[in-house]
Amino acid sequence: MLYGLLLNLLFILVGIFLQHLWAEKTGNDHSKIVITVVTAVTIILCILLQLDHSFIQDLKFIPFIIGSLYGGIFVSILLFIIMLLVYLFVYGLTSTFIPFFLIFGSVGLACGLLSPRFFKWTMTKKLQAMVAFACLVPLFMFFFMNDHQIDSYHTVFLLITPVIAMIIVGYIMEAMRETVSLRQQIIKAEKSEVVSQLAASVSHEVRNPLTVTKGFLQLVLESEDLPLEKRKEYIRLALEELDTASNIINDYLTFAKPAPAYWELLDIGIHLKHIEDIISTYAHMNSVRIESELVSCVIQGNKQQFHQCFLNITKNCIEAMPDGGVLTIYTSIFQKHVLIQISDTGIGMTKEQLNRIGEPYFSTKEKGTGLGMMVVYSIIKAMKGTIAISSNLGQGTTFTIRIPIAVPR
Ligand code: ADP
Ligand code: MG
Repeated sequence: MLYGLLLNLLFILVGIFLQHLWAEKTGNDHSKIVITVVTAVTIILCILLQLDHSFIQDLKFIPFIIGSLYGGIFVSILLFIIMLLVYLFVYGLTSTFIPFFLIFGSVGLACGLLSPRFFKWTMTKKLQAMVAFACLVPLFMFFFMNDHQIDSYHTVFLLITPVIAMIIVGYIMEAMRETVSLRQQIIKAEKSEVVSQLAASVSHEVRNPLTVTKGFLQLVLESEDLPLEKRKEYIRLALEELDTASNIINDYLTFAKPAPAYWELLDIGIHLKHIEDIISTYAHMNSVRIESELVSCVIQGNKQQFHQCFLNITKNCIEAMPDGGVLTIYTSIFQKHVLIQISDTGIGMTKEQLNRIGEPYFSTKEKGTGLGMMVVYSIIKAMKGTIAISSNLGQGTTFTIRIPIAVPR
């Protein structure tokens, strides 16, 4: 019996790991379809594996509770139906069917209805709820459908194992969900880091046009015998400078503003130009010249993420050229993919550094976060693209990004 229970537990854990792997891959840990499929398969396996034992002695209610709590009421109803069908198929319409129906129906309903609130709880509270449900089900089953003669030793055993199993399963489930959400938080935190770093260069760059505007306006105010023509000319120049300042702020704000993460069609020509505009103030401050050749070509992605990704790369390139240099952005189309090559003429990297780039917290800079390239990798992966980096110490670095072109619909 213990062997069967352990086997049950193994299947449940494998299911959770698979679900976690999927969440890591897609970055979506609330996928109801995945939760439903994984828990449904585990439930079926749990029932089939314990066939030669009593019906009570399997752990099928653990994936059932997990699926209902994490998936919500619809998943819970679906799992319930699947479980009924498997029950009928395996055991037929026996006398225990009605209690079975009632127990799992009410527990499923309770879990499903609790689900929206469940997500807001702390880990301890979640675990308590899961364990409480895991105790309830076998207790009810003993009361209502104890058709086998199980002695008291086994009764205790059958009540304790679900609790232990539930604690293990619930803890692993929560710990894994935490890592996925932590990674998403890092992406957000890194963005605010970039936002605050760029803010310095933006405020610096905005000050210039404002000073010029102020100068012209003072000139107009103070010299009273200025001809009308000259007066108009000065005001026009002042307005132009104000436009420049407002453009810089606008560019920066579109990047800094939080936006919903939906997918859209992006023309890389337009968006890379936009990135060039945002980064140009920063480049200017570091005496870096930007050269670019941009083709127009449509890919699929999220605008904000696209901006963040290429800002991180170009910002690194500029930072790699402390004494100035050239930043090149070159695009071309090759085999249904767009190739974006970004090169700098900076300090370059050693082989060891090149191997570690993209690792979280790997940074050679005093004030570096070491998260920029990690974010780049995850965004490019989400766009189904690839990135290759080549670098020569003292000569510069080239980033080559390949992203599939969106198929026109
Ligand atoms: P950070 O910029 O905060 O240090 P990143 O993840 O953006 O973190 O970059 C990690 C490290 O990769 C940098 O510290 C730097 O050593 C290296 N690196 C990234 N881009 C370049 C580049 N263009 N040239 C040289 N080194 C680079
Ligand atoms: Mg960086």
